[in-house]
Amino acid sequence: MGKTIAIFNQKGGVGKTTTSINLSAGLGKLGKKVLLVDLDPQGNSSSGLGIDKDNVDVQIYDCLTGKVSIAEAVKATSAENVSIIPSNSELAGVEIELARVDDWENTLKNVLVSIKEEFDFCFIDCPPSLGILSVIGLIAADSVIIPIQCEYYALEGVSQLFKTIELVRKNQNPNLELEGVVLNMFDGRTNLSIQVVEEVKKFFKGKVFTSIIPRNVRLAESPSYGISVHDYDAKSKGAESYLELANEFLDMQDER
Ligand code: ADP
Ligand code: MG
Repeated sequence: MGKTIAIFNQKGGVGKTTTSINLSAGLGKLGKKVLLVDLDPQGNSSSGLGIDKDNVDVQIYDCLTGKVSIAEAVKATSAENVSIIPSNSELAGVEIELARVDDWENTLKNVLVSIKEEFDFCFIDCPPSLGILSVIGLIAADSVIIPIQCEYYALEGVSQLFKTIELVRKNQNPNLELEGVVLNMFDGRTNLSIQVVEEVKKFFKGKVFTSIIPRNVRLAESPSYGISVHDYDAKSKGAESYLELANEFLDMQDER
């Protein structure tokens, strides 16, 4: 199948990496083969799944610049059934290099073609920007998941985000779909969280995942051990909610 999903929001700290790691690992637990592409120079998906990102021999940068084949870059992670193409700060320089390459838009898409069919799903953890890296992520993707934090200004920046998706649809990837919006860091004790959920549901009409991710300390702790929340504390609310999201995501694929 090899469906490719970009996890995208130009805001930092909304839960792109947390969702990349724990949705991937949740699907892995359910028996799906998942490839996670770390497209953020911060490399948090890589370290969060046990990869010593500053000492990897090959990373996504080397694939995008054509130095090595993608097969050489794929690494096993601490999570069952989840492989990763890691990244680190070296990737930060690639935007300048890519800007000089003909057909730079399709570099990631072309690189993934040879490998994606080996996996059920391929997730792309995008960096917190609307720059070249996020754009090549959206061009390589079949659909987009947008994590949104339940806080004041939750919808701030959403129109810009949509503009970018629309531009990519119009110019390079007409079939790019909105997979869904993941509400993150929900705190049921606050009216604010409840209001934000209503507001986001109204705005994204029917495109918001029913599974909502609560604020849960286990989700913040697990990356420092290099393991997903499922391996860190399977009984936590964080693990339960991401497993629920994985199931909901799979049900949606069956309906299509
Ligand atoms: P992004 O990739 O969008 O920048 P992250 O996934 O790295 O965002 O999340 C930002 C920070 O918030 C991280 O330290 C992460 O561990 C923490 N975090 C994310 N989601 C939750 C949550 N639901 N509960 C508690 N902490 C969270
Ligand atoms: Mg991140």
